[in-house]
Amino acid sequence: MLQQVNGHRSGSDAQGGKSLREDLQEFLGGEALLHELDDLTKVNPVTLETVLRCLQARYAADMFYTSAGCTLVALNPFKPVPQLYSPALMREYHAAPQPQKLRPHIFAVGEQTYRNVQSLIEPVNQSIIVSGESGAGKTWTSRCLMKFYAVVAASPTSLESHKIAERIEQRILNSNPVMEAFGNACTLRNNNSSRFGKFIQLQLNSAQQMTGAAVQTYLLEKTRVTCQASSERNFHIFYQICKGASVDERLQWHLPEGASFSWLPNPERTLEEDCFQVTREAMLHLGIDIPTQNNIFQVLAGLLHLGNIWFADSKDEAQSCQLMDDAKCSIRTSASLLQLPEDPLLETLQIRTIRAGRQQQVFQKPCSRAECDTRRDCLAKLVYARLFDWLVSVINSSICADPDSWTTFIGLLDVYGFESFPNNSLEQLCINYANEKLQQHFVAHYLRAQQEEYAFEGLDWSFVNYQDNQACLDLIEGSPISICSLINEECRLNRPSSAAQLQTRIESALAGSPCLGHNKLSREPSFIVVHYAGPVQYHTAGLVEKNKDPVPPELTRLLQQSQDSLLKVLFPMDPEEKSQEEPSGQSRAPVLTVVSKFKVLSQLEACGLVETIHISAAGFPIRIPHQNFVERYELLRRLCTRTSPGSHSPSPDERHSEWSPHTKGATLQTLLQDILHTLPALTQAAATP
Ligand code: ATP
Ligand code: MG
Repeated sequence: MLQQVNGHRSGSDAQGGKSLREDLQEFLGGEALLHELDDLTKVNPVTLETVLRCLQARYAADMFYTSAGCTLVALNPFKPVPQLYSPALMREYHAAPQPQKLRPHIFAVGEQTYRNVQSLIEPVNQSIIVSGESGAGKTWTSRCLMKFYAVVAASPTSLESHKIAERIEQRILNSNPVMEAFGNACTLRNNNSSRFGKFIQLQLNSAQQMTGAAVQTYLLEKTRVTCQASSERNFHIFYQICKGASVDERLQWHLPEGASFSWLPNPERTLEEDCFQVTREAMLHLGIDIPTQNNIFQVLAGLLHLGNIWFADSKDEAQSCQLMDDAKCSIRTSASLLQLPEDPLLETLQIRTIRAGRQQQVFQKPCSRAECDTRRDCLAKLVYARLFDWLVSVINSSICADPDSWTTFIGLLDVYGFESFPNNSLEQLCINYANEKLQQHFVAHYLRAQQEEYAFEGLDWSFVNYQDNQACLDLIEGSPISICSLINEECRLNRPSSAAQLQTRIESALAGSPCLGHNKLSREPSFIVVHYAGPVQYHTAGLVEKNKDPVPPELTRLLQQSQDSLLKVLFPMDPEEKSQEEPSGQSRAPVLTVVSKFKVLSQLEACGLVETIHISAAGFPIRIPHQNFVERYELLRRLCTRTSPGSHSPSPDERHSEWSPHTKGATLQTLLQDILHTLPALTQAAATP
């Protein structure tokens, strides 16, 4: 598994100094030394095969990090390598005059980024983007970086709040186990897969000390609460409670040993992540006291019991579906844990309220069995999603610094990786869409921009072709017609539409796209999107419903009746809420569907490895703003001009034109070469008494 970390890696001498081309001949001839090639820009020719051979050799030699121009390639060791992440090593990279000259490591990226915040004329916020497919190690890497900054950017003061004296860095680190317990799950690809996107902002004061942090999350995969693919699991926290609760807690939360819950598949698998105690302690450090924790776990137990409520088909359409016999106990337990009145809970699941006509008359319609199931699932997802958002806000209030106490930040972006399963739906479409955006951002900001800048500055450069994923993005989000717009249109029209019809609409409206494919052998209605990372087949069944993500207003109203103190916070009686509950058939504010919410996702980046290496290998490793360049080299230039034989002092006009901000890179390059050329004479002149 491979992942790529984009930090801001300036000042590398990948280009200059050593005779790299000679090295690489030697390396390609001598396989035995291939693992010593620690920068992929030294590989020649740069092809997937040579790059893979090099990475393979390094992996076999336990060398898990390799530079690739401006990025770092990290290989997942799939085994503990504690010596690679020791505080001593962190300090070594921090103290190094040029960390990028040490062995490639995530700490080198971390340190360079840390220096970049301050090394420029104006302190500039920096971000590190960790990209890679699911299971590549993105979350692991983000955690490593957080630990690194907790050591090198430690603040000298400790916090006394929450009756626990601790450092802010420790508290920030404690946000990881909590967020992962509630937002990560075991999937086919990764036992600890992040089911939400995360951007964490590590806040630094003017002395470069970490004073706090802020977390922003993106699109939690809440469908997992009620529906898990075969061999996958629900969010870790549910298993943690069931496995880790004490005897008293089990009694309190109605979780007897060996109880079976339909929303809790594969409970027999024991994972490292199933540690309830770790989550509880981390919550305590974040200021979530024991009674509040118990309240959270009680609500989650209520959701588990809700999942065991099943309905039987009603023979008479005018009648509500009845509860299955063994579900009667579950509804009672769930109602008691969620502190909801039992009868209204059942009624809300069984009966739909419709307002219609000019007078807004209220009608009640018994739901079909499938509708009852959908309402039950919707209730659970609603509670879980609000609980997750609330937890993030509590974490933020615990770790976020005063606005006055920080001036810059280092951002870490860890989003879910590219996914392709046997059955892919809206969740995978959103995740892969995010990864396409990351890829495009990288293409635009690095591959394309860098080459355009070289061309603009008149530097000697032959354009490197790269895979532009614009066609794929046009297919997903383009205007006026795209997969997103077609799915949104179906939601807006609210017409009965089968999975097969959606497939036909997508295929006929977007037939011209080179990135749209069709699997003739598929028995289920589906379409294929050819992503930059590979083709993925998406099933159309349920896509529109998932995108609508409808929340019947009765469900919110029901939850507002809860006597539970946590649910009261999550579902406050809000007058605004009423105004949002527009009756059906009325003109309403545009509904924000899942994909349209997702389209606001920003700050994303990723890479095409081979193109990155090509451009980095051939490109200029050092980029200095014009003003800095003038300030740094003006004195040297004057000295050189004086020293070099036959030189004359440039007139003010000449100097002005040489150093003007409009001077192209090629001119500056020539000047710099002149300076370097004259340096030996200058050194000699300086040495002569
Ligand atoms: P997803 O997109 O599914 O969230 P991810 O890229 O975040 O995946 P991680 O959860 O970070 O993947 O890594 C998967 C697993 O690989 C980790 O739980 C850990 O066991 C192992 N792993 C990753 N990187 C390392 C590392 N540097 N050292 C040791 N183990 C690692
Ligand atoms: Mg992850």
